Amino acid sequence: NLQVEHALDWMAKTNEKIQDNKEYLTTLDQAIGDGDHGINMARGFGEVMKKLNGEAYQHAADVMKDAAMTLMSKVGGAAGPLYGTAFLKLSMTFKGTDVDYATFSKGIEDALNGVKQRGKAEIGEKTLVDVWSAVANALRENEGFDSEVILQSAKSGMEGSKDIKATKGRAAYLGDRSIGHLDPGSVSSFYLFESLAEVIN
Ligand code: ADP
Ligand code: MG
Ligand code: MG
Repeated sequence: NLQVEHALDWMAKTNEKIQDNKEYLTTLDQAIGDGDHGINMARGFGEVMKKLNGEAYQHAADVMKDAAMTLMSKVGGAAGPLYGTAFLKLSMTFKGTDVDYATFSKGIEDALNGVKQRGKAEIGEKTLVDVWSAVANALRENEGFDSEVILQSAKSGMEGSKDIKATKGRAAYLGDRSIGHLDPGSVSSFYLFESLAEVIN
């Protein structure tokens, strides 16, 4: 089960990876966007950690909710509302129940659907939807928390974003020239799931 301390640890590890790879995320976004993804995510997760460190939590749902609200209010650009929506859906699905595997799996599915709706994006448009859907599929096809399943599905979703054309977000303006570049949001989502894999290990 995903306990409150797992949720806190998940956010802390994600923050570390985002801060460590801030420049890299920005470089990726310079190639096919406006070069602010590292800055946006580093600021957002920095604020999330400030918020989480100042509260005492009883339930994973409340951790997700505060992360969502912080990202929505502190991060400009596409990524803030999208990640905010994802965490808000997780908090709604986790609310009032033990976060066992089935609940967690449903939470990721609900988050994916929320992001798709918010961004009007489908799978294969070279956005973070590609990573979330890869993980959601893997969770659905498996039983029980398995860090290797989460890590490998997120990795394949991220790598799959490279050789396809962007049709949503700023990168879509480049058309075919977006092909051959990793999607910045898919890479930040990979860090999120890589962190999750470490936490449930
Ligand atoms: P902005 O593009 O506003 O500068 P960021 O650079 O922080 O915002 O985030 C860009 C990332 O957001 C992209 O790499 C992509 O993964 C994701 N993204 C952008 N637009 C959409 C969308 N409509 N639906 C889903 N994801 C999107
Ligand atoms: Mg950007
Ligand atoms: Mg921007």
